[in-house]
Amino acid sequence: MIMIGSRAELEQIIPFGEVALQKSLPHFEEGLFRVAQTEQKGLGMFATRFIKAGELIVAERPTVVSSKTLHGTKHDVPYAPSFYDAALAALSEPARASLMALDDCCSLGARAHLLPGRIMTNGYTCGPMTDKCDSDSDRGPVLFSATYPTLPRANHDCAANAHYSWNGVRWCGQFYAARDIRAGDEITTKYVLDTTQAERHASFERRYSCRCLCKTCLDASPEDVIRSDERRRAVAQLLRTLETALDPAAYPMLSERSVRRTLGYAREEGMMFQYARILWEVGRIMQVQENPLVGFEWAKEARKAHVLLLGEEYWLVAKADDTGEFLAERLRARGFSCTWP
Ligand SMILES: [Zn+2]
Repeated sequence: MIMIGSRAELEQIIPFGEVALQKSLPHFEEGLFRVAQTEQKGLGMFATRFIKAGELIVAERPTVVSSKTLHGTKHDVPYAPSFYDAALAALSEPARASLMALDDCCSLGARAHLLPGRIMTNGYTCGPMTDKCDSDSDRGPVLFSATYPTLPRANHDCAANAHYSWNGVRWCGQFYAARDIRAGDEITTKYVLDTTQAERHASFERRYSCRCLCKTCLDASPEDVIRSDERRRAVAQLLRTLETALDPAAYPMLSERSVRRTLGYAREEGMMFQYARILWEVGRIMQVQENPLVGFEWAKEARKAHVLLLGEEYWLVAKADDTGEFLAERLRARGFSCTWP
């Protein structure tokens, strides 16, 4: 593994990496997928058996961890070729071979070094590096881009069945099944996160210079697209409303029926991260608006949704546990019987 970034950025992450790399990868069953040719999208990942929602499909260490400044815009290659040559030379032979085997869709031009295009095409966000440097810290989240040997083989789908996350405790990238995956199905993840199909397609073309050929888009009729856009807008809007409601005096009035309907949309549209976040935010607001035990139950449901999608070690789960333990203690002090989680 090599790390690329400014001295200040690297000094901020290396201490965490040194601890995390001592730990083994999280446990998962080997061989849950095979890499094979797809019809139109080059190589892809295919499930070799039924994979249940919440199952860890694969976890692996990055080959290259690079600063997001390298990853900024398509035509922005901030370092000299000799810099990238030195980075490549520092990799082991198998790591270099796995990196060179990846596609470069960023069309940086014939004179560009072969490393940045591969990183921009195949990199996944990595960070925060630890639960201690989340967005609450005064430095802001530490975000890099990680390129892996196998994870880039998963193609994009606008309603992907697997979710990528960075495990900062063990310094690895991981895919959890976002819903049940049948044997033989292609395992997909999301490269672009925009709400409507038109926005996603525009982002996709801008970043990868090609069209989105995902199954969700190919199978959708124009009516399906309109309905899907509406549902995704409703999910995004609800989450935005909840996340920006910080003053208890101005909390929105929530109806459980309407929230559950929007959660259903999130599930159907494959927006499982938003699904988990909505549960959490509703819990926060319900603690004030309703019986505190009602809010507590929502928070427990939120924790479960986070774990299924991101694993026990994800920083948001650690954060939820801090809050949950505190709430449980407060409720017990008031005579309620409850435990977290
Ligand atoms: Zn699509």
